Amino acid sequence: MASEPFDAVSVIRTKRDGGRIPDPEIDWVIDAYTRGAVAEEQMSALAMAILLNGMQPAELSRWTDAMIASGKRLDLSAVSRPTTDKHSTGGVGDKITLPLAPLVASLGAAVPQLSGRGLGHTGGTLDKLESIPGWRASLSSAEFIDQLNTVGAVVCAAGDDLAPADRKLYALRDVTGTVEAIPLIASSIMSKKIAEGSSALVLDVKVGSGAFMKNLADARELAETMVALGTAAGTHTVALLTDMSTPLGRTAGNALEVRESVEVLAGGGPADVVQLTVALATEMLAGVGITDVDPAAALADGRAMDVWRRMISAQGGDPDAPLPTAAERHVIAAPATGVLTRLDAYAVGVAAWRLGAGRARKEDAVSPAAGVVMLAKPGDQVHAGQPLLELHADDAGRFARAEQALDGAFGIAAEGDSERASQGAPPLVLDRVTA
Ligand code: URA
Repeated sequence: MASEPFDAVSVIRTKRDGGRIPDPEIDWVIDAYTRGAVAEEQMSALAMAILLNGMQPAELSRWTDAMIASGKRLDLSAVSRPTTDKHSTGGVGDKITLPLAPLVASLGAAVPQLSGRGLGHTGGTLDKLESIPGWRASLSSAEFIDQLNTVGAVVCAAGDDLAPADRKLYALRDVTGTVEAIPLIASSIMSKKIAEGSSALVLDVKVGSGAFMKNLADARELAETMVALGTAAGTHTVALLTDMSTPLGRTAGNALEVRESVEVLAGGGPADVVQLTVALATEMLAGVGITDVDPAAALADGRAMDVWRRMISAQGGDPDAPLPTAAERHVIAAPATGVLTRLDAYAVGVAAWRLGAGRARKEDAVSPAAGVVMLAKPGDQVHAGQPLLELHADDAGRFARAEQALDGAFGIAAEGDSERASQGAPPLVLDRVTA
């Protein structure tokens, strides 16, 4: 075996002591780890040193480039429209990609979205779309480019050659307590998004109990770090900081979220889902210079729905097929009369996961029908005994653990408590971050 030019232990020591890893050593450590020449325990020590000591901006930019170079960049040069994409850091009930991609395509841009499956309490976009009978997540490169040119929107699975260093490193971070390092989150997300090659990118950085980032300061730091990385790579990048203290919309679960997305595409649906879809579409289009359009009108008049139907059919799905429904339902009623002041996103996410909508390990199957329907949202008046949440599962044996997750998850302020009762839903878009 050829000898290696650097030594993992000295790279670890540099970062352990708060130094900047020199560029050639960054390139080497990512490449050698991907090839298996740097051991898992060495990379795990380095990840912990990064979590504790951070990275300088130029160092992180080089690290991200090395992650991109571990695989292939997509070549979108054959796409005739300007390309623009969105990434959400993940939240409960976050089905926004489903109405958003066809909406943006209906207004003249192309959306090349490589998505993932869900892990833990947040659902994955591919899991949601796979609840549509016949729909397939895997496309060849030729099918991908062809669909971008003919339909304008593709949501499909990323190939194994998109930033393979990230796949290995993310799995390692998951079992070594190093997921939370902002430089590692930023480089993980941005290596995949930059390798995807769109001209513009909008980041939806979630803040709150159902998100990775629980407070605004951390979310802002992550957003600023990612916007800087995208901008340095020549991608027009903007971030919105958006609330994830309560779930988005009224459903969490795969087919349930597809049904709600179709309502939005039909010009209806929950106001928060519509508001965020329109806000992100406006940013995605502006990023490629399309500003004289009205995304809300394209939802209301059926243009976005038209693209949705073509996008689903192009990947083998039947947009008219009935979606799976759960065999078992269980209602949780409001314990008091008053205003619903709180419905905790994390608790709803864990409940949906325990009902079967999510997976604990990546090889687990998910139930397309399972999930939670929220019959009231913060700000709504509720009456004692009125159904608040409806749990859906294939097997009634799952209800008890889901109910446990929801213990203490909502608050109801009595009519006389005017201060608390006036607390409605928090604002959805909290801030905007640009370069
Ligand atoms: N999503 C990613 O792709 N990577 C992270 O590190 C965190 C969220």
